[in-house]
Amino acid sequence: MEEILKTLDEELELLESRVGEKRIILKTKRVSEWAKCPVCGQLTQKVHSWYWKHVADLPAMGKMVILEVQRRLFLCTNPDCSQKRFSEPMEYLNWSGKRTRRLDNLIEKIAANHSAHGLEKILRNDIVDISDDSILRLIKKKESNQHALHDTSE
Ligand SMILES: [Zn+2]
Repeated sequence: MEEILKTLDEELELLESRVGEKRIILKTKRVSEWAKCPVCGQLTQKVHSWYWKHVADLPAMGKMVILEVQRRLFLCTNPDCSQKRFSEPMEYLNWSGKRTRRLDNLIEKIAANHSAHGLEKILRNDIVDISDDSILRLIKKKESNQHALHDTSE
């Protein structure tokens, strides 16, 4: 299952996996002790603090997949830098920080072929525990795409 993680970020290692009836939880952290400051590019291994972040990823073996990722807050050691602290980069996160981008791509594909009600059912049964707000946002996005298509055809 480490492969699932490696395709998101080669630095991720699997610490623990828990396979439940409906979901798989993968506990993970990045191997590297270093991070690069996004402002000045300085490498640092000074960690201010860290927490466990939950991120939904693509389903596997018919179950939802939740990543439990250690996210560290680093301190920039360059005295001239305006950025004192920064979060560990997680480039695979979507805009909300709750799902991976590749999961959002899957959801958008499913949304394109289903009604709002069907979409909600499919997502909640098999793909991801998603909030009402997120579903609403997806549906609105879908509707505005359809209007856009409709408008151009007139
Ligand atoms: Zn810096």
